[in-house]
Amino acid sequence: MQNLISDQVDVLKQRLVEHQLIFDNAIVGIGALHERVITRCNRRFEEIFGYGPGELDNQNVRILYPSTEAFDRIGRIGYGYLLNHNVYSDERVMKRKNGEIFWCNVDLKPLNSTNPQRDVVMIFQDISQRKASEAREQLAYEHLEQLVNERTRKLNDANEALRTEIRLRKEAEEVLLVSREKYRVLFETFPIGISITNDQGQVIEINQALRRIASRTLLATLMGGGKKTSMSLIRADGAPLTYEQLPNVLALKEQRVVADVEVGVSYGDSQIRWFSVTAAPIAVKGYGVVVTHTEITERKRTSELESLNRAELSHVSRLNMMGEMAATIIHELGQPLSATLNYLHGCELRLESKDYAPELFHSAISQAICNAERAAAIVKHLRQQCMRQIGPEFVPTDINVLIEEMIIFLDFERRQYGITILPSLGKGLPTLLADPLEIKQVILNLFKNAIEAMSTTEESNRLLEVTTLWGQQRWIEVSVADRGHGVSKKQLARIFKPFFTTKQSGLGLGLAICRSIIEAHGGRLTAGNNLHGGATFRFTLPANR
Ligand code: ADP
Repeated sequence: MQNLISDQVDVLKQRLVEHQLIFDNAIVGIGALHERVITRCNRRFEEIFGYGPGELDNQNVRILYPSTEAFDRIGRIGYGYLLNHNVYSDERVMKRKNGEIFWCNVDLKPLNSTNPQRDVVMIFQDISQRKASEAREQLAYEHLEQLVNERTRKLNDANEALRTEIRLRKEAEEVLLVSREKYRVLFETFPIGISITNDQGQVIEINQALRRIASRTLLATLMGGGKKTSMSLIRADGAPLTYEQLPNVLALKEQRVVADVEVGVSYGDSQIRWFSVTAAPIAVKGYGVVVTHTEITERKRTSELESLNRAELSHVSRLNMMGEMAATIIHELGQPLSATLNYLHGCELRLESKDYAPELFHSAISQAICNAERAAAIVKHLRQQCMRQIGPEFVPTDINVLIEEMIIFLDFERRQYGITILPSLGKGLPTLLADPLEIKQVILNLFKNAIEAMSTTEESNRLLEVTTLWGQQRWIEVSVADRGHGVSKKQLARIFKPFFTTKQSGLGLGLAICRSIIEAHGGRLTAGNNLHGGATFRFTLPANR
C-alpha cells in the first residue's frame, strides 16, 4: 500500500513537471489572474509584453492596457460575456512595457464559472505582424479599389463622352440631312440656271432651270467645252469672248467671284442669246465653281430699244431747245458775221480809195478771218447738237470744262435775264468716262430750267450756283442751285416723267432725258428745294479711276 501511494505520488510529480514544462515552453503567452492580478505567467507572456522573468508577478493586469478607460471597458465586456459563455475571445490592442501599442489575440477561460472574475486564465498571442500585414493588405486593397474606382469613373466618363459624341453626330447628321435636302430642293427649284463644276472645270451637276434654258450644246458652249460647236461666244461690246475670259474659267483660275458678266451666244445666223453669268469658287476639295446663268436676251433687247428711243427723244429735245434758243443763235452768229462784214467793208473802202497802209489792211483781214472762224465754230457746234442721233460715245471727259463751255454758250441768255452765274468748280477732279455731248445737254437743260425758274425772282437775287466736287469717293457730284420759284411737293414726284411741264411752250422732256442720260452713265439725278427758296438739281457720275 505504502508502495502504491509512493508510485502515484511519483506519477503526479512527473505530471507536474511535464505541465510546468508545457506551461514554460508554450508558444502562446499564458497568465493566471486572481481578481485581475497576475499570479503567474509564462515566459512567452512576459516576452509578448516586453517584461523580464518574474516582473509581472503580482502586478495588476491594468498595466498591460493602453489606458484605464480601455481596462475598464474591456473588463466590463469580457467578464459580462464570461458569465454567460464561460469562454471569451477578442482581438485588441495592448501595451508593452516600453509603451508600444500592439495587436494581440486574447482568450479568457475562468476557473470558476459562477465567479469568472475571481480566477481566470488568459492566453495571449501577438498578432501585430498579422495585423500589420492585414493593414498592408487593406491598404493595398483600398489602393486597388481606388484604382478600380478611378478606372471605372474614367470608363464611365469615356462612355458618357462617347454617348454625347454619338448624340451630337446624330444631331449633326440630321442637320446635314435637312440642309442637304434644303440645298437639293433649292438647287432644283431655283428659277436661275445653276451648274456646278469639278476642280477640272467639268460640269458635274446642273439644275432644272438650266436644263430648261440651255441645251447640252449651248451649255457646253457657255462653259467653254463647246469649241467645236457651230455657236460662238461674244462679249457685251460685240468682241469675241475667249476661253480664258469665261467667268467660270476665270473664277476657277483666280479663285475669286466673277460676277454679272454678259455673255452672248451667237448661233451663226443673226440670232444671239444673251446670258448674265456669275461664277464663284467652291472651297471644297474636288469641287470647282458654282455658276449661275440668267437669260437676259429680252432684257437686252428692251434696253436697246429704250436707248434707241432715248436717242430719238434726246434728238427731238435738242432740236426743240435749239428752236427756243433761236434768239441766242441769231445773236451768237450775228455778232461775228457783222464784225466780219465791217472789217471786209473797211478793206473794200480802203482798196477803192487806194489809200491804205498794208499793215492796217492786213490786221483788218485777220480780224475778219477770226470772226468768220468763230461763226463757223458756232455753226459746227449747233450742227453737232442738232444732228447727232447715234448712240453715246464714251471718252475721258473733264466735267469742269463742259460746265465752262456751257456757261459761255448761255452768255446771251444769262445777260438777257440778268442772271449771275457763280461757278464753284472743284480742283483736281478726276475725269469721267462720258459722252461730252450728252453731259453738255444735261448741263444746258439744268441751266436753262434754272434761268427760266428765276424769271420772276427779284433781279438782284437771280443767282445760279454751279458746283462740282469729288469727295475722294467713286463719285463726282454736280449741283445746279437757283433762287427761283422751286418745285412744289406734288410736282417733285412728277418732274422726271416724260411730258410733264408747267411751262406754256414746254415739251416736258428735258428732265426725263437728263435722268436717262445720267443713268445710262451709271449715275443718279435728283431734285430738291433749297432751304431759303429755289431748287437744286444734283447729279452724280462715276469717276474714271
Ligand atoms: P420743260 O422745261 O419743257 O417743262 P423739263 O423736263 O425740263 O421740261 O422740266 C419739267 C418741269 O420741271 C418744268 O416744267 C418745271 O415745272 C419743273 N422744273 C424744272 N426745273 C426747275 C427749276 N429749276 N425750278 C423749278 N421748277 C423746275
